[in-house]
Amino acid sequence: MPSRDPLSFDTRAVHAGREDLSALGVHALPIDLSTTYPFSDLAEAVESLDALAAGEGHAANPIYARLLNPTVARFEAGLAALEGTESAVAFSSGMAALAAAVLAARSPEKNHIVGVRPIYGSTDKLLSAGYLGVEVTWTDAVGIAEAVRDDTALVVIETPVNPTLELQDIGAAATAAGDVPVLVDSTFASPVLQQPAALGAALVMHSGTKFIGGHGDVLAGVVACSEAWAKRLREVRVFTGGVLHPLAAYLLHRGLTTLPLRVRRAQDTATTLAARLEEHPGVVRVHYPAIEGNDPHGLLGRQMAGPGPMCSFEVTGGYAAADRLMQALRLITPAVSLGSVDTLIQHPAGLTQRVVSDATRAKGGVSEGLLRMSVGLEAAEDLWADLEQALGSRD
Ligand SMILES: *Cc1c(COP(=O)(O)O)cnc(C)c1O
Repeated sequence: MPSRDPLSFDTRAVHAGREDLSALGVHALPIDLSTTYPFSDLAEAVESLDALAAGEGHAANPIYARLLNPTVARFEAGLAALEGTESAVAFSSGMAALAAAVLAARSPEKNHIVGVRPIYGSTDKLLSAGYLGVEVTWTDAVGIAEAVRDDTALVVIETPVNPTLELQDIGAAATAAGDVPVLVDSTFASPVLQQPAALGAALVMHSGTKFIGGHGDVLAGVVACSEAWAKRLREVRVFTGGVLHPLAAYLLHRGLTTLPLRVRRAQDTATTLAARLEEHPGVVRVHYPAIEGNDPHGLLGRQMAGPGPMCSFEVTGGYAAADRLMQALRLITPAVSLGSVDTLIQHPAGLTQRVVSDATRAKGGVSEGLLRMSVGLEAAEDLWADLEQALGSRD
């Protein structure tokens, strides 16, 4: 990258991971769709294969697309530059990234995970169901130190929390975990609003499907970390096969260039909408970090640069009222997922948190009247007009 060190975040978003392009004589990111790579020298091929199978991120010959792909590797370099980590390893989905992180962290001697609830529904299910053969202890933010054992391989937290948007203290979690590595699911913040590695997280995970992809057309996951962790993650990826497709990597890398603009603009709109929802008589409660009382640990501005583009709110009348509100919307789309250019709304109790038990849902503050909105790039006034007419037509 050009001069001035360190470059600002926005400059890195545009340039990182593109260092080899001018030598290649191209301006746009090349997409390499090869599944196999010809070799002319067997000894060199053997050396490359050995290195990649052991988790190295580079080799003279990529050998086979499950081992290395140059388009994916460029995206990984770009994302690592935004998270301020040595490396990043991309996967076919956020859940593939999380599964690989657990497999990379665990061993026969250390087969215990501490998870902090509430957390994304599929993360809860992945760890609770035992698919990966690990034992899990669920706790809350203050229970981490007590839950950690001699055989604990990893502490898993998420901030902001889905779908209630509480902020968990990353630094405090890292301190409580001691020598045990902490994985932070930073999907809701995106690298624009927080960089957990600087606060002590060993592994920073994103569902790239959300803000990083940003246009609702790519499924992806990524873990930003040290090069030592990246080696273990790549080795797991080589042998479990959850690789990211190069076309997806191209779209993600292209999306990084506008990520800061998208996230900040959506955040401004979410701040406006949250304040108006808070005033509306049909709304019982707004869950948004910038709303008074929603950030008891004072993490806004310290850990997270802003309140973000996600806003949840509870309507009077519970499940049926939440359902009617979604049906009455004309501009905002009822759909799961988040982080796209358009505004989406969904019902966590019915959809994204459905895979966890009723008791866990209730304890995590996921009420029947709760709606989660991912604010997009439309004009705030148009979104408010839509919400206002839908709130008015609930009964
Ligand atoms: C979507 C999401 C995931 C899972 O990512 P996929 O790309 O859907 O596999 C994990 N954590 C959070 C917070 C998410 O929003």
